[in-house]
Amino acid sequence: MGAALPTLFLSHGSPMHAIQPGAVRAVWEGIARDLPRPKAILIASAHWETNIPALTGAAKPETIHDFYGFPKPLYEIQYPAPGAPGIAEKALGLLKENKFKVSIDPARGLDHGAWSPLLYMYPKADVPVVQVAVQTELGPQHHLELGRALAPLAQEGVLIIGSGHMTHNLRERSSNGPAPYASEFQAWVKDRIETKDFDSLVNYRALNPHGVRAHPTDEHFLPLFVALGAAVKDYKAERLYDAIEMGSLAMDAYRFS
Ligand code: ZN
Repeated sequence: MGAALPTLFLSHGSPMHAIQPGAVRAVWEGIARDLPRPKAILIASAHWETNIPALTGAAKPETIHDFYGFPKPLYEIQYPAPGAPGIAEKALGLLKENKFKVSIDPARGLDHGAWSPLLYMYPKADVPVVQVAVQTELGPQHHLELGRALAPLAQEGVLIIGSGHMTHNLRERSSNGPAPYASEFQAWVKDRIETKDFDSLVNYRALNPHGVRAHPTDEHFLPLFVALGAAVKDYKAERLYDAIEMGSLAMDAYRFS
């Protein structure tokens, strides 16, 4: 076992980023370039919601096009990374040791929360990928503990990524520039990430005046807690990107090392 790999939180953006990545492209490429090559990737995506933790077990996970009404080229994208059934089994074991109920889904593929950033991070699709689901009903603390249980994998060269959004209010999308509440929420979260104030972060809906507005539903924020939980305890947090798209979609990317 060497030093633990950093963990990441990525805001994956609209599915359009897969074909028109814009400025975040260089960020995603740079993050991967600056890391040692991982043995595998374990990625928690906001777009797979289950009642109990679940992992993809397929040896060849299919590319899921889990969105509607987008241009045809998006539906033609394939991200043929192999799965990592052995890593999924290890993750299953770690979660069971930590008293989680957990299952492996042998059929589930990769959704755009996973493959959209990975298309740019690992364009050759040659790093095996396991996806882990979020349990929206169970809230942030559960995902922090889920990440903690999975942390030993980072010591074994597995890159643990949470893929969601820093703010995700789809109803308030606009072309009027960044909404002030979204910027304020970004800053509040950044401060609490840096001071490791997990008690405040897990209670963000009650403690931050914009928490519910930034996340009308929780699922796109929960992957952050997986990444935080899986990070080394004395992590250094680096925010590598913080653009706000369409007024209300903060695209923050963090590395915890
Ligand atoms: Zn999404």
